[in-house]
Amino acid sequence: MPDPRPPTPESLPEARLLRTAVLLAVGSELTVGETRDTNSGDLARSLAGFGVEVAWIAALPDRLATVVDALRDALAAADVVVTTGGLGPTPDDLTREAIAAVVGERPAVDPGLERWLRHLFERRGLAFAETNVKQAWLIPSATAIPNERGTAPGWWVDRPDGCVIVALPGPPSEMRPMWEGWVLPHLIARGLGQERVTRTYRLAGIGESAVAALLGEPLLRAENPVVATYARTDAVDVRISARADGGRSAEQLVGAAEAVVLAAVGDHVWGRDGDTWPGVLGRELSARGWTVALVEAGTGGSTMRLLGDAPWLISSHLLAPGETDAPIAALAEQARKVSDSVVGVAVRTIESGEDTQVEVAISGPWGARETRQTAFLGGSEGRRRAGISAAAFLYATVRDAPPSGPEPV
Ligand code: AMP
Ligand code: MG
Repeated sequence: MPDPRPPTPESLPEARLLRTAVLLAVGSELTVGETRDTNSGDLARSLAGFGVEVAWIAALPDRLATVVDALRDALAAADVVVTTGGLGPTPDDLTREAIAAVVGERPAVDPGLERWLRHLFERRGLAFAETNVKQAWLIPSATAIPNERGTAPGWWVDRPDGCVIVALPGPPSEMRPMWEGWVLPHLIARGLGQERVTRTYRLAGIGESAVAALLGEPLLRAENPVVATYARTDAVDVRISARADGGRSAEQLVGAAEAVVLAAVGDHVWGRDGDTWPGVLGRELSARGWTVALVEAGTGGSTMRLLGDAPWLISSHLLAPGETDAPIAALAEQARKVSDSVVGVAVRTIESGEDTQVEVAISGPWGARETRQTAFLGGSEGRRRAGISAAAFLYATVRDAPPSGPEPV
């Protein structure tokens, strides 16, 4: 691959910070539903991490007029437009043609790229079909982005107003390394996004809609800081993120929103940011040197799955629904005794009507505590929530125990 000259800020017509982006995924395989557009999500996550606002994402068919229109709209709306797909050698791959049409330039074969491309085929002993030469095209305002895993180089195109168009090939195995290794460093050098501080609180024992009601619409509709709720499989997350604004730092703005969030739903918080149930429970338990034995009935093993492969979980038993009608506290105590653990946990679910009744008991040297709750929905949804109830009750019980804790027996 010839060494393309990286675009330098001095050669730019206009210095423009790159704060907003539009992502276009090109390929009829996407619009007929044969292939899922994973590229745009990957790029959006990466850009959001740099505080770039992605204005929108679109998937487009291999149709020149549609891609040209989308590129025009995107350039009017964003500082950076990233396309993936449509860089192959065949006539239906027409992202290059579309970009050339939008910027009003004619593509021509770049001799350096052509040599590199022909060499790739020679090396593999393959005949060079002349249609391939399209992959050696450039327009005057484009710089080739090296592709070490395929035959389609990307394009970096500078616009006179400081906007940038980046075209990358569709296969994720080519797109990703080109993005990470070449495009992102060049975007950063140009001034990408702005500092954004993000904090996530992880909640249990409350549904997403109840969280939203407690937080209130003004908070959830604000643009900076942004406060949003997400229903995950192991928690309801409240994510706060902000960028510096009006003389206040991103950290200050997040801190202010955080105080409001914690006042409203702080009682339900069990973790932050990347916390997981095995992680937070492991912290509390290992601080005390405690082990856990688990027995669950009617849950389908949802508690065990949630706790995962935790070293402090020394035994775990799954009973059939209705296998035992012993009091839940007795089951917890029995689990503890049989496996010689410090803490015993018992969970039992019974579907009742549309929902699931959940009983949890935690027993330890201090005695037993138990709780009864109704988990929303039946079936596997209800059982999943029962697992969360059990983890949350275990967490609250262990956390509230004195730091030295009841002595292990
Ligand atoms: P292309 O660059 O259009 O020749 O794309 C080649 C292949 O990359 C397609 O056949 C898909 O398998 C894959 N691909 C294209 N676009 C995407 C996308 N947005 N997300 C995931 N895979 C894609
Ligand atoms: Mg294609």
